[in-house]
Amino acid sequence: MPSAYFTPDHETFRASVRRFLEREVAPHAERWESERRIPREIFRRMGELGLLGILFPPEVGGAGGDLFHAVAFLEELPRSRMGGFCAAISVQQFMATRHVWNHGSAEQKRRWVVPSIEGRAVGALAVTEPDAGSDVAALRTRAERRDGGWVVHGAKTFITNGADGTFFTLAARTAPDRGARGISLFVVPADAPGVRVARRLEKLGWHCGDTAELSFEDVRLPADALIGEENAGFGYLMEAFQLERLCSAAIAVGSAIVCLEETTAYARDRQAFGRPIAEFQTIRHRLADLATAVEAARQLTLHAAWLLQHGHPAVRECSMAKLFATETAKRVADECLQCYGGYGLMEEYPAARFFRDARPNTIVAGTSEIMREIIARRMLE
Ligand SMILES: Cc1cc2nc3c(=O)[nH]c(=O)nc-3n(C[C@H](O)[C@H](O)[C@H](O)COP(=O)(O)OP(=O)(O)OC[C@H]3O[C@@H](n4cnc5c(N)ncnc54)[C@H](O)[C@@H]3O)c2cc1C
Repeated sequence: MPSAYFTPDHETFRASVRRFLEREVAPHAERWESERRIPREIFRRMGELGLLGILFPPEVGGAGGDLFHAVAFLEELPRSRMGGFCAAISVQQFMATRHVWNHGSAEQKRRWVVPSIEGRAVGALAVTEPDAGSDVAALRTRAERRDGGWVVHGAKTFITNGADGTFFTLAARTAPDRGARGISLFVVPADAPGVRVARRLEKLGWHCGDTAELSFEDVRLPADALIGEENAGFGYLMEAFQLERLCSAAIAVGSAIVCLEETTAYARDRQAFGRPIAEFQTIRHRLADLATAVEAARQLTLHAAWLLQHGHPAVRECSMAKLFATETAKRVADECLQCYGGYGLMEEYPAARFFRDARPNTIVAGTSEIMREIIARRMLE
């Protein structure tokens, strides 16, 4: 299908990503899901194939791609058949490493970004706390200057790659009374003394993905663990939110496409009352409505990506894309499951996993309610 956004080069890249996922990742989905783990070797393999540094320049081992290479990659990730895998990989290359790349020193990039691109390091972005989720500015983890370095105390929760990651891009309070203007970002090795995985969290969906609660007690960091400028962390987080939301939207679109493909094949095959269920108008029209919604979500996401690529802030469009694509993917997963009848609830069919894996997307990277607030603010204030 011709596209205003993707060139033949993007499509060749997309095809290679799809081949890799279908051959080397999807066949392991059941095992990784039941073991609740993504093996470290797959990060290394993806590093070898150049799939973990799409937006980074070749000088540091990246692929030097543009945002549409990233979007093609993100749309394909759900071919892994694991929402947890999509989350782990996108956090690694588009979130945790992004802040180090955007604002870190040459030494921080050498130490953390280069091995992440190679798949030897796995990064996590540690912002959310038990009492500070949507309200990022309320975070309480403290980083205090001491003996020429920093000492960190606090707790983080719901952190993707938190238990098995090798480093955290950590948001901590460096000025107690300055709200959003008192937050800084740090890079923290996961094996630093005082860092503890308090709990691996069991959750609805994303089963192979590692989501952890972390504790930081008297964690001593050198002065150069600070990323960029002191107290500028909230701004860095805000600036990166558009890419985060775009990642969520593109993954949601990709997962809805795969879910619809599977369901269409099932509807052609499954017989009831002596004919394929695809011949019942209620099923056909449902599939047509869902395909239309997915196409709309996709075009909105691509438009937001285009704006971002061309230097527009695209806050409104990235928020709309995140809201609409993740809500659409949730609806697609729900209505597709209905098309499977009782088999939709059985683990040996794909619908059950699509259903539970679609659920976190309207909560992570900013809830749907927060997306609506951002959009409404731009209309009303
Ligand atoms: C599987 C998973 C992976 C995650 N990965 C990461 C990660 O890697 N790193 C990280 O830092 N965080 C991560 N998170 C955290 C995620 O970003 C937060 O859960 C999310 O931002 C919501 O915060 P909360 O859970 O504290 O909900 P709350 O902020 O407590 O919100 C509760 C409810 O109130 C609504 N609400 C809150 N404020 C408003 C408002 N102003 N207007 C209207 N409604 C509002 C919300 O929409 C929601 O419905 C992850 C979460 C999950 C579940």
